[in-house]
Amino acid sequence: MSAPTVANPSLQAGSIAVGIGACVLGAPVRYNGVGKKPSDPVKRLGECFTLRPFCPEVAIGLGVPRPTIRLVGAETSATRAVDSDTGEHDVTAALGQSASMFLANNENLYGYIFVKASPSCGMERVKRYNDSGNVIANDAIGIFAAALMAANPLLPVEEDGRLHDDHLRESFVTRVYTYFQWCELLKTGLTLHTLQKFYARHKYLIMSRHIPTYKAVGSLLAQSNSESIDALGHRVITLILDALKRPATRAGHTNALQHIRGYLKRDLDKEEKCALNEVIEQYRSGDVPLVVPLTLLRHHFRQHPDAYIEQQVFMQPYPDTLRLRNLI
Ligand code: SF4
Repeated sequence: MSAPTVANPSLQAGSIAVGIGACVLGAPVRYNGVGKKPSDPVKRLGECFTLRPFCPEVAIGLGVPRPTIRLVGAETSATRAVDSDTGEHDVTAALGQSASMFLANNENLYGYIFVKASPSCGMERVKRYNDSGNVIANDAIGIFAAALMAANPLLPVEEDGRLHDDHLRESFVTRVYTYFQWCELLKTGLTLHTLQKFYARHKYLIMSRHIPTYKAVGSLLAQSNSESIDALGHRVITLILDALKRPATRAGHTNALQHIRGYLKRDLDKEEKCALNEVIEQYRSGDVPLVVPLTLLRHHFRQHPDAYIEQQVFMQPYPDTLRLRNLI
């Protein structure tokens, strides 16, 4: 496939750092001194992100090997991480502080990959026990994971096991690149103009995921009331990243493809229009992946460049080498 016409600066930006539970990368840091075998999705992500491994339990000095810990508490809001044997060694505060320590040492961080089921690193559905050692629910969040998410609610996060799902992985990668571009924008200074430009570049990407968000952000920016630019920017990026958490759908992508097709209406002849309509319909009905209509669109925009479409992140939100658009 020839090089795309679109220009997405973040794709040439070099390393984008993403934190990850060290055991997921194979480091021998688990309680039993064994790491996990890195999965194919994690290895793939390692080709485009700089993965920064971290083990909060080792960071707080628990050592390897070590007794296991578990979450205990009658409420999810009041879980404590204690050793599984006696329940007397409470490491809740230390694990929470390890999140601040990690963030302080990794300022330019654009995502984090947590570890399924871990009382420290689990993002969701971690086992919660009562004081007698019986499981009472699977609804807790690991202490380190909860502290990291609270410290930076915008940081895109995912769990290692969920990365096997193509749609969840695609959503995570899209959010990491979007968040990276947001942080780059902040470095250059946020103004209403630069915020509107950011939204304009992401217009079809947002539209493809969640039309209500696309409309809500548009009207927020049009009103531009007395709210400070930082507060407005925070509201906008929160809405956008929330929308991008939604897995992509064929209906949403088809809608964006059809809108983008409209920019070619004066440039294509009847035959070319029919062929383009056909592949968009094949995509909508599930016969071909997203890369097929996109490749044809890119081909047409190479022949008939359009400045507005060239800046659309939807056309290339992440490197093609990830092959995610062959899967959705
Ligand atoms: S799940 Fe977290 S705390 Fe446990 S070994 Fe892996 S990185 Fe360390």
